[in-house]
Amino acid sequence: MELYNCLLDHYGEPGWWPARSPYEVIVGAVLTQNCAWGNVVKAIANIGDRLDPRTILDMDASELAGMVRPAGFFNQKVVYLKAVTRWYQLYGFDVDTVRREPLTKLRGELLSTRGVGRETADSILLYAFRLPTFVVDAYTVRLCERLRLDAGKNYEEIKNKFETNLAETGHNNEGIYNRYHALVVTHGNARCHKKPACGGCPVKEMCGV
Ligand code: SF4
Repeated sequence: MELYNCLLDHYGEPGWWPARSPYEVIVGAVLTQNCAWGNVVKAIANIGDRLDPRTILDMDASELAGMVRPAGFFNQKVVYLKAVTRWYQLYGFDVDTVRREPLTKLRGELLSTRGVGRETADSILLYAFRLPTFVVDAYTVRLCERLRLDAGKNYEEIKNKFETNLAETGHNNEGIYNRYHALVVTHGNARCHKKPACGGCPVKEMCGV
């Protein structure tokens, strides 16, 4: 919570995930794999008002590929988008129906879906469905190393470390997880790059660099 509070005080409320609907979060989470966010925004703008799960399922793959082209790996991402949309279809494209299911079941299903890895699955569950699962990404790993947090060696270990640690102070809820990941990404984009810009860093006193 010390790290969280420092980041929140410095960067403010992140207001994630910027999207008009839960389905747009799902699409964004798939498209952002190996892709800068600005190009995801272009791809989503190309889809425009056809960004609806039924429309995407019915759409010709080559037409959809043309729309998501700015996000790179577009043929592959069309396959992934259709697969994750079919998963959403199991719940009638209804957010409340998804939310009634156990989190571990949903996470297992998503991880069995083509093109959905851990970061994508947790991003979908947290930001589209507002379920409490901590998201880990490359910025999280780097920050943990630099702050010498000894958070673990792989995705699941780091995720469990954050969730367990936050649970000890009663802060293991969706709202904190939402902001925490967003703040880590904001910090990584703003200054904690591979070559960090450490001047004025809000967590400099905690950092081993
Ligand atoms: S002091 Fe530098 S390396 Fe450490 S967290 Fe801040 S920006 Fe990253």
